[in-house]
Amino acid sequence: MKKAIGIDLGGTYIKGALIDEQGNIVVKEQIPTLRELGSESILERIAELVRHLAQLSEVPMTSIAGVGIGIPGFIDERLGMAVEVINIGWKQVRVREPLEKILQLPIFMDNDANAAALGEAWVGAGRGTNSAICVTLGTGVGGGIVFNQKIWSGTNHMGGELGHFVMDPDGAPCNCGRKGCLETFASATGILRMASEGIENGVPTSLSSVELSTKEIFDAAAAGDELAETVVTKAAEMLGRGLAMAADLINPEIIIIGGGVAKAGDGLFVPLRKAFIRYALPRVVEVVRIVPALLGNDAGVVGAGKLTF
Ligand SMILES: [Zn+2]
Repeated sequence: MKKAIGIDLGGTYIKGALIDEQGNIVVKEQIPTLRELGSESILERIAELVRHLAQLSEVPMTSIAGVGIGIPGFIDERLGMAVEVINIGWKQVRVREPLEKILQLPIFMDNDANAAALGEAWVGAGRGTNSAICVTLGTGVGGGIVFNQKIWSGTNHMGGELGHFVMDPDGAPCNCGRKGCLETFASATGILRMASEGIENGVPTSLSSVELSTKEIFDAAAAGDELAETVVTKAAEMLGRGLAMAADLINPEIIIIGGGVAKAGDGLFVPLRKAFIRYALPRVVEVVRIVPALLGNDAGVVGAGKLTF
């Protein structure tokens, strides 16, 4: 049986796993990215990690179908290039060609949110479904659309970028250069910003601006804190509206929500489902489940590995 290696390139760590065709992780490892050493060094470290995973699992390189890499930025599949990766400081970095040369294995790549979406849809919360929308609520809001266990990448790998739905054209500035994107409301960054603004504006609250975390905000909202409730309601409302638009377009079986903010559980999912039902078409609502992701940090490496099969 063929094996594959999935790599999840992050700003701090490079995670890797060797997986089988059923999506089971045989071994996994992570190493620091050390982005300050530059792109060539990062590619060498990825190659080292690939060899190390093969050694650990005692799988000969010839039994490995390929290496899939999830890259946290914009990519050009055709050129095998990372066009821009802000977290790592990459611009126009060739990834496929140098790695294929070093490793003598086929290299596949996609955006990291797409890789995580594929992992979740394949063997995580979406196992057995044919159409899934996957959302990661972290520093930003990543999205991916999966049909029949294949990512819908779009024409130039921009498919599924629902984090940049413009929800309020007069809203806060977004990393993409526009204003009021879904990401500015529903990411951890957005939630923290809304809470800090409330504190600055003197809204009565038990929250203090020191060491504010999204967990603290969700806990305070559950305890009835007025500002925290307002912030959580706004985040869930915007996310529910954004997902309703996406769901009206795709008519999926499942919507999977992962990332740090999703750890809030019912504190997020209850108001989110309410908002979703308010905005999505009733026949779309009838058939879709909105569920938490299951694979956690492994979604990215499993989905990246799946790219090779
Ligand atoms: Zn944006």
